[in-house]
Amino acid sequence: MNIILLGPPGAGKGTQARRLVEERGMVQLSTGDMLREARSSGTEMGNRVAAVMDAGELVTDEIVIGLIEEKLEGDRAGGFIFDGFPRTLPQADALGALLDKHGATLDRVVEMRVDDDALVGRITARSTCGACGEVYNDVTKPQPADGKCSNCGASDFKRRADDNEESLRTRLLAYYKQTSPLIGYYWAKETLASVDGLGEIDVVAGAISSVLEESS
Ligand code: AMP
Repeated sequence: MNIILLGPPGAGKGTQARRLVEERGMVQLSTGDMLREARSSGTEMGNRVAAVMDAGELVTDEIVIGLIEEKLEGDRAGGFIFDGFPRTLPQADALGALLDKHGATLDRVVEMRVDDDALVGRITARSTCGACGEVYNDVTKPQPADGKCSNCGASDFKRRADDNEESLRTRLLAYYKQTSPLIGYYWAKETLASVDGLGEIDVVAGAISSVLEESS
């Protein structure tokens, strides 16, 4: 089964994708993670997109479609979770064409709904474990006092350069202008399901599981 997790920055797409990887053996394809990896390894493309990402704007369709195209060549036995991709209508069309080319289908698009004020609170307080990606929040889930990740024990916490209020407002604007039309696009293709992304992680995970069970 191949699915998209669709939602604004801070909706919890990455957190829920990691659970689906653990519980269902799916493969997470996060274009944000791929771009951050390209930046930290100093590739030419990584250097080119750094300023765009820090400002909270979208990198070009061509770049992210190329990244996804490479990954689709890999192992896809458990199915893919597209996380943060597609973000524009041309990306959505390209994904459809790529899946067709591989004889694969897009089975479900899960829209995660969270109100904007909650997103600002989540993003500005967010840090993650650099080793396993566990997400922390200064208010609701502070980093453990012993300085070790509660999931993997590493002591390498990170804050994203674009997790500040100014970049977030640009990212939200990009979401509403360029990404939110995908809700209608996938509704018309009869693949859309919406879940409330505001609750506890387990509750949201349960809602996503129910949607996936219904479609399998
Ligand atoms: P994310 O980790 O998904 O929040 O992505 C971080 C940043 O990477 C975004 O604000 C964009 O600058 C860039 N990015 C990630 N995915 C895409 C995409 N599908 N299209 C364009 N830009 C992207």
